[in-house]
Amino acid sequence: MLKKTIQPENYVPEEKLLKVIPDKDPEIKISLKRIPVVEKTGKMIPVCEPTLQGNELKYLTECVETNWISSTGRKIIQFEEAFARAVGAKYGISCTNGTTALQLALYVAGVGPGDEVIIPTFTMIATANVITHLGAKPVLVDADPYTYTMDVNRIEEKITGKTKAVVPVDIYGHPCDMDPILDIAERRGLAVIEDAAEAHGAAYRGRKIGSISDATTFSFYANKIITTGEGGMITTDSREFYDKARNIRDHAFSEERHFWHKYVGFNFRMTNLQAAIGLAQVERFDELVESRIRNAARYNALLKGLSGLTLPPQAESVKNVFWMYAILVEDDFGMNRDELRKQLAERGIETRTFFIPMHLQPIYHGKYAGQSYPVSESLCSRGMYLPSSSGLAEDDLNYICAAIKEIKEGARR
Ligand SMILES: *Cc1c(COP(=O)(O)O)cnc(C)c1O
Repeated sequence: MLKKTIQPENYVPEEKLLKVIPDKDPEIKISLKRIPVVEKTGKMIPVCEPTLQGNELKYLTECVETNWISSTGRKIIQFEEAFARAVGAKYGISCTNGTTALQLALYVAGVGPGDEVIIPTFTMIATANVITHLGAKPVLVDADPYTYTMDVNRIEEKITGKTKAVVPVDIYGHPCDMDPILDIAERRGLAVIEDAAEAHGAAYRGRKIGSISDATTFSFYANKIITTGEGGMITTDSREFYDKARNIRDHAFSEERHFWHKYVGFNFRMTNLQAAIGLAQVERFDELVESRIRNAARYNALLKGLSGLTLPPQAESVKNVFWMYAILVEDDFGMNRDELRKQLAERGIETRTFFIPMHLQPIYHGKYAGQSYPVSESLCSRGMYLPSSSGLAEDDLNYICAAIKEIKEGARR
C-alpha cells in the first residue's frame, strides 16, 4: 500500500531575498459599478486572452466531422509547414506544449545525465525543469539590465567540460543578442537550443527568430502570441534533427520493425484538433504579431514622461514583439509594484509580476547557494506586465493608462 506521496520543497528565503519575491496576486472584484470599463464589458481586463475570430471553429469542425481528432491528420502537417515558413525555418515538429518541445530538442541534441546546460536565471520555470528531467544540471547566467535576456558577457565563465548546450530565452518577446551566443557556441562546441516560447514573429538583425539557432522552440499556450490551447513546436533547418525529433516524439518506433525501439522515446504528439486551431492562427500570423507591437507603441506614447516607470526594452536592430508589455516600477513612482498592482486590480485591471529567478525557487535554491544574480533579483522585485492581448481594445488601453496616472497622482497627495 502507498505509505507516502511526494513531498514539496519548503524554503523561506532570508530577509534580504524575501523582499525580492512578489506578493500574492491581488483579487479582482468584477462588480465595481463606478468603473466604466468593467461596467461596460461586464468583465475585468485580463492580462492576456486569445483571439479566435478566424477559421479556428471551421477547421476544428472539419476534424470532428471527418473523425480526424488524434495525432495523425492533414492539419498537423499543414500547421507544421505553415508555422515553419512563418518563422523562416525549413522544418517544424509540433509537440504537446512548449515545455515538451524544449525537452525533446535538448534530448535530440544529446543532453543527458551529468551534462550541464547554460540558461538565464531570469526565465519561466519550464526552461530549468526540462533540463532537470533529462538528468542534467541547469547552469545559471544573470540577465542583461537593458534587455532582460541572458547577459552574453557572462556565458563563457560558466562553461565547463560538462557543458553541452546553451538555451537563450527571448524574454517577453525581445530577442537575445544572438551573434555573441552563436560565436561562443561555435568556438566551444555547444548546441544552441533557443527557447522562443514568447517570441513568435520576432527578429534579430533581419533574421527571423526560429531560423537562427540549431533548434528553436515555441509555445502555443493560450496566452502566447499564436495559440492552440496547449501546444508547442520545434523549428530547425537540419534534416537530421527533424527526422530524429519526429521519430522520438512518437515513442521512437523504428523503420525496421514497428515495435522495435532504439531510443527511449516520448509521446509528445500534438493532436489534429490543436493543429486545426494553430493553422487558423498562422493564417493571421502577421495580424496577431503586429497588434502586439501596435499596442506597445500606444502604451509607450501614453506612459512616456511618467516618472518612476521604466518602459519595455528595445535594443537596436531587433524586432521586439512585446508578448507582454513589461514595465518596471521604480522607487520614484510614489509606491511600489505590489501596491500599484493592488490599485489596478481594484479598477478591474489584471496584471502579472515578472518571473521569480531560478536560483530563488524552493526546488533549485540549494543548488545555487552563495551565487548572486543581482540584475534578475532587481527585475523580479520591480517588474510587472500590463494587459497585453493582441485583441486588447484601444478604449481599454486608454483606460489602463489613465488609471495608472490617476493612481500615481493619488499617491502624491
Ligand atoms: C510559456 C513558456 C514555456 C512553456 O510553454 P508551455 O506551452 O506552457 O509548456 C517555456 N518557456 C518560456 C520562456 C515560456 O514563456
